[in-house]
Amino acid sequence: NIEINEPKDYDINSIRPPEDISKYVHANATILALVRNSEARQIASTIRQFEASFNSKFMYPYTFINDSPFSERFKAKVKEVSNAPMNFITIPRDLWARPSSIDAKKAEEAMKILTEKSVAYANKLSYHNMCRFYSGTFYNIPELLKFKYYWRIEPQVKFFTDIKYDVFKYLEGTQKVYGFTLSLYDIEDSVTTLWPETIKFLNSDDNYKYINPNGAFQWLLENQQNPKKAEIAGGYSTCHFWSNFEIGDMDFFRGEAYTNWFKHLDSTGKFYYERWGDAPVHSIGLGLFADKSKIHWFRDIGYEHDPYLNCPNSKNVARCKTGLFSRWDHLQDQNCMASWVDYSMADPAKIY
Ligand code: GDP
Ligand code: MN
Repeated sequence: NIEINEPKDYDINSIRPPEDISKYVHANATILALVRNSEARQIASTIRQFEASFNSKFMYPYTFINDSPFSERFKAKVKEVSNAPMNFITIPRDLWARPSSIDAKKAEEAMKILTEKSVAYANKLSYHNMCRFYSGTFYNIPELLKFKYYWRIEPQVKFFTDIKYDVFKYLEGTQKVYGFTLSLYDIEDSVTTLWPETIKFLNSDDNYKYINPNGAFQWLLENQQNPKKAEIAGGYSTCHFWSNFEIGDMDFFRGEAYTNWFKHLDSTGKFYYERWGDAPVHSIGLGLFADKSKIHWFRDIGYEHDPYLNCPNSKNVARCKTGLFSRWDHLQDQNCMASWVDYSMADPAKIY
């Protein structure tokens, strides 16, 4: 019964918490939270757990971002729960708002139809903006340009485990581009043409050159569990990394392959005429343009965002049952992790 409480493919002892934090040389990284003023209490709850689990040992700076200016009340509330440096940023309008090229009437009709198909949040313009923003513009916020790595957190999520190594330095030392905790199937009606549009992009000019020969293609394409889903999604398995938790290298997204592909996706207007999520967009980008061995499952990090969780087998996990994917029985079949392990790990025999 081997306890997995940290990755096994790196000299973790070289990236333990410092004894004297004031002398610590940090990785080039920030904790990133897009959040509304009305969610001060919920993000404070997240930060409390995040500090206990990781950041009180390492003191990485927070970057809070919002489409409207943060209130003094919000700032005071989050400062109460961490001593780490904090930055409060208003997102430039052109990185957030619906582009003027979008046909408002067409977008509204799409929102109605998708809502009838029970696509979550399809009728909320702000959610479409959020998905487009996290898909393709967040890493270009001027104040974020100086950072390479980010760890995305959200209001009211839970961190269960004591993380005793610098996760950013782990990515840096292994040259990995992305880390996740949960992988699941998506709502197929939200992404009916995301894959076909991607194929269109790859088939035009010489864009196929961007495809990484060691990409996670099988994970993107095969859905044995529910083939109907993949059919509706135009051949895409709908497997994705759940993006409310992600630790990544923004230079991957800023790179030519992802940038040009995102430009194509954006030009279709389908962040508004459909309801493409940032999670499937990040995941398809990574599955095509990154080496799958550079994508890391943080199986050791206990994490929950309702209704799913990653519950490791380390002894200090008291609040969930090892391996539990959802606290609701009817959601167990949404887990796509077996497919990731099966097809996309560099060496499935070694699950770090
Ligand atoms: P869900 O996790 O898909 O159910 O969506 P959430 O409501 O949690 O939204 C995802 C993240 O984006 C959360 O961190 C929200 O606080 C944030 N968010 C969503 N919409 C907006 C918005 O209009 N403005 C701001 N500032 N944050 C938003
Ligand atoms: Mn959320």
